[in-house]
Amino acid sequence: MKEKGMNGVRTRDIVLGVAGIALIGGIGYGGYSFYQLSKEYDQTREALEAASGALEVERQTNAQLSESLSAEQARNADFENQIGSISSTVGKLDKLQNTDPQVLAKYSKVYFLSDTYIPRDLVTLASSSGFEASRTYKLTQDAAVQLEDMFQAAENDDITLKVASAYRSFNEQGGLKSTYRVTYGKGANAFSADQGYSEHQLGTTVDITTPAIGGGFVGFDGSEAFTWLNKNAWKYGFVLSYPKGNTYYVFEPWHWRFVGTTLAEELHSQNIHFYEMDQRKLNQYLIDYPN
Ligand SMILES: [Zn+2]
Repeated sequence: MKEKGMNGVRTRDIVLGVAGIALIGGIGYGGYSFYQLSKEYDQTREALEAASGALEVERQTNAQLSESLSAEQARNADFENQIGSISSTVGKLDKLQNTDPQVLAKYSKVYFLSDTYIPRDLVTLASSSGFEASRTYKLTQDAAVQLEDMFQAAENDDITLKVASAYRSFNEQGGLKSTYRVTYGKGANAFSADQGYSEHQLGTTVDITTPAIGGGFVGFDGSEAFTWLNKNAWKYGFVLSYPKGNTYYVFEPWHWRFVGTTLAEELHSQNIHFYEMDQRKLNQYLIDYPN
């Protein structure tokens, strides 16, 4: 009995013990599982956090990159604009540097071109353009090209224009003055060497005549040639330096100066003469010259 009883007790204890162990084990296992799960959860959460952190970093990085890209693009556009404006300015400066400021300068009885001045690119005009076949007439390249075109256009309108005088060096002026004196007597001092002197030394200015008046200057103001020039010369960049009633010199209808087509057109549209325009304003057309 005792054995049995003892056995009974022991059996019950064993049962309880086993159950207890199972329970504890179960709890323990559960706890372990919970621990495992929560550990995995933590790891997952950390991984997620890390991942989302990385995503956030990436997002921020992308935002920064995109911002930087925009800024860079803006900078490039700005830079391109600057380059554009710089190269345009450089182009203009370069052009100005290669343009002789004397070509648009006003000369007077007190302001002369330097006696050492020689135009850079003198060329000889076609012999058909000169009044005397045996003489050579020279102008700067730009003026010469436009003059030949102008003479051709006049010829197409049945007006014959001839050059009586073109480029004259400083030293040629003295000799010319006496020639004019012979032709015009004492009045020679009123023009020739005294006036228009510098403009001829520029190599951009011509005295024009026409066979209709015998190749001289007397009566030129009443000639068809003069009428034609007044109407058309500006299209070729030529202007009348000393019109009737000007304050600089006496009227010289035969004396035409090349100032570039842009300026000549502007003077024509404003209906003013070259010497009436302010020198600072004239200088602005150096950018366009010889156009
Ligand atoms: Zn002249």
